[in-house]
Amino acid sequence: MYGKLGEVLRGELDALRAQGLYKEERVLEGPQGAEVTVGGRKVLNFCANNYLGLASDPRVTEAARRTLAEWGYGLSSVRFICGTTSLHKLLERELSAFLGTEDTILYAACFDANGGIFEPLLDKDSAIITDQLNHASIIDGVRLAKAQRLIYQHADMNSLEEQLKSAQAAPFRLIVTDGVFSMDGDLVKLPEICDLAEKYGALVMVDDSHATGFVGQTGRGTAERFGCLGRVDIVTTTLGKALGGALGGCTSGRAEIIEWLRQKSRPYLFSNSLPMMICGAALEVLRILREDTGPLRQLERNQQRLRAGLRELGFDVDPGEHPIIPVHFRRHQDDAIMAQGMAKDLLQEGIYCIGFSFPVVPRGQARIRLQASAAHTDAHVDRCLEAFAAVGRRRGAI
Ligand SMILES: *Cc1c(COP(=O)(O)O)cnc(C)c1O
Repeated sequence: MYGKLGEVLRGELDALRAQGLYKEERVLEGPQGAEVTVGGRKVLNFCANNYLGLASDPRVTEAARRTLAEWGYGLSSVRFICGTTSLHKLLERELSAFLGTEDTILYAACFDANGGIFEPLLDKDSAIITDQLNHASIIDGVRLAKAQRLIYQHADMNSLEEQLKSAQAAPFRLIVTDGVFSMDGDLVKLPEICDLAEKYGALVMVDDSHATGFVGQTGRGTAERFGCLGRVDIVTTTLGKALGGALGGCTSGRAEIIEWLRQKSRPYLFSNSLPMMICGAALEVLRILREDTGPLRQLERNQQRLRAGLRELGFDVDPGEHPIIPVHFRRHQDDAIMAQGMAKDLLQEGIYCIGFSFPVVPRGQARIRLQASAAHTDAHVDRCLEAFAAVGRRRGAI
């Protein structure tokens, strides 16, 4: 039987390559950081979610090593059989304290947190009202639920209000949104959403994967940034981005919701418990964040310098406040070729970044998505700007 499927897949793979949609993976030959080794060369990395530069921070790796020595490697169990340690409980308490919530449940990844939230919580009469540009894991999670799915236009509060009105007969309504949308780095309109939720009686869920640890004065995320702590019922987030970058996710929020998820959420019940090494390292990350807002300030500074510098050079960069900085090529006839070509030349110049084009982003909106990190120094940012200037001029992008 396989011969036939193999043939179909080879054809499909060739078609992807022909359309320029085949994803080649670049191979790092050492640890994640501001500087990475690719193809035997050291280059500056401007495309990691390593926002706080903690992925290879010695304090974090040491905490992981210490925990590994004390607690061993794995648990060979799901949480409810024999996979819950005091370290898991401590991390859940510390995450709740950090996020300003009542309780937290850990998952192997935020993808699982989003996959396991909707189905146990909302029955077929309830309504999930979801932003058009929400993350793939939210889309998949919503698909698993029997509830009605109502999609509102991205960040469009009129569209959201219409959907809320149309769902007034449902016993429960849940508005779900990314805290930060990953392709543009735009932040959720959280106060407006919370107001509408109050007006129409809806719960609010925010996926803060691109915010936890660094958005808001002390890094508590979009709720802190917009003064909405306590108004968001459910937060999902990842340990795989700013908070050390290894793996792991969580759902945090109202006590009864979290307790219910421990009983009913399938990715929690039927998947292995998070390695203690990661719990130990994540606890260290939270300790660092409590004591030292230096990385947050450095990240803010790098984001501002990079964005302002690109705009001064004449690149098509929108104003913004998030370390995701899309460099657009909207003025160019073939934006996709320009984005891919720029990224290729930038790597030659020692700047590692990625060009995104259709279908990852809409047609005509190809871009290079840069991500600032607290691990970058002023000199790193300057080198990035110099490389963009040189490559941009050579390719006629500026
Ligand atoms: C990265 C991301 C996820 C997935 O997180 P993992 O912990 O890597 O599974 C989920 N939601 C959003 C919005 C993300 O950006």
